[in-house]
Amino acid sequence: MSQWLTILGSTGSIGCSTLDVVRRHPDRYRVYALTAARRAEDMLAQIAEFSPRFAVMTDAEAAESVRAGLPSDATTQVLAGADALIDVASAAEVDQVMAAIVGAAGLLPTLAAAEAGKRVLLANKESLVMAGPLFMEAIRRGGAELLPIDSEHNAIFQSMPADYAGDLSEKGIRKILLTASGGPFRGRTSEALKDVTPSQAVAHPNWSMGAKISVDSATLMNKGLELIEACFLFNCQADDVQVVVHPESVIHSMVQYCDGSVLAQLGQPDMRTPIAYGMAWPERIEAGVASLDLFEIARLNFEAADEETFPCLGLAKQAFAAGGTMPAVLNAANEVAVDAFLQEQIPFNDIPTLIARVMSEHRPVAADDIETILSADAWARSRARETIAEVSQ
Ligand code: NAD
Ligand code: MG
Repeated sequence: MSQWLTILGSTGSIGCSTLDVVRRHPDRYRVYALTAARRAEDMLAQIAEFSPRFAVMTDAEAAESVRAGLPSDATTQVLAGADALIDVASAAEVDQVMAAIVGAAGLLPTLAAAEAGKRVLLANKESLVMAGPLFMEAIRRGGAELLPIDSEHNAIFQSMPADYAGDLSEKGIRKILLTASGGPFRGRTSEALKDVTPSQAVAHPNWSMGAKISVDSATLMNKGLELIEACFLFNCQADDVQVVVHPESVIHSMVQYCDGSVLAQLGQPDMRTPIAYGMAWPERIEAGVASLDLFEIARLNFEAADEETFPCLGLAKQAFAAGGTMPAVLNAANEVAVDAFLQEQIPFNDIPTLIARVMSEHRPVAADDIETILSADAWARSRARETIAEVSQ
């Protein structure tokens, strides 16, 4: 029987890769809903190919354009607004939800999918960073299945015992080794990063991704968010996770055991591998990804992360240690800072400075409910924007 799938953020990089896996397995997967923010043309092309029951555009004007562009015999119903994301993520007919909206905007629909007991394919790491304990509790309460799609976390999941239940030592696990490519600016000094441009920052050496995560990879905030993501997903402490810079991005992460074994998952830097893994788990399906040619790769390199030049990794560790609402504040300040950098309002090195400043003004409180988390997020966004305005005067 085929599985019904909702893809939150279907026009993005992960969304398109997910649809490519669906395209290869029309007998296994059917699209219930596709969602996007603004790109009506892209959505129309996806509707024409996949005939989802619903298409959601969070932007009302874009929803109008999609309605106007649909052929008269189309069966897809077009909905507008962020509330509709929650409906299509939690609808009774849906089996799996790919959470691939970028940033905090993904939190509520992803949480809704968890509460509704879906298989949650989690790419949207920001929602876990903001609301880790609440999100993991929603997964448990809803009886949902959480499959990590972020390549590192997918690799860790694959390298862990199948019956891992949230206790590293019970399974003889000594450490999680979280690999990082180091991004486009690996090896540079802080001085050399002063004048880097958005187009240099989004030019990732190994992965093709959306603009926001590409900048996060360049600042190492992506690894910071992933460290927090790993701690929530696998119920461990920051000290249990070691960041290992591995510029070739062939090993996607590793698990080190007490007997000296290290288990790793290797593969091409192609997100269709973790996506197909998550969709078909515990089976494996064709993902359209070429096999690794180890002779061509020939060498793998490893080094420590340069936390002095790239302070965002340390800021993420601080935020996780502070706990409560601090990770949500880190995430929100980062989203504003990255956006300002992409719009050439602030230089690259101001991204960590701005985040550190907003964090220093925040007294974390327990993040037990969604309102508290959303208000910390809103506060951090407005403080970050005010700070940018003050500095640029
Ligand atoms: P992207 O920018 O390419 O796509 C984002 C998608 O979200 C688009 O469909 C867009 O329409 C939608 N969207 C954006 N803002 C929205 C809003 N306010 N409300 C509703 N929808 C909105 O991003 P991406 O690279 O595909 O990344 C998506 C998520 O997956 C991110 O959280 C990222 O960290 C994570 N991720 C991505 C990759 C990758 O290779 N691209 C790898 C690991 C994790
Ligand atoms: Mg990753």
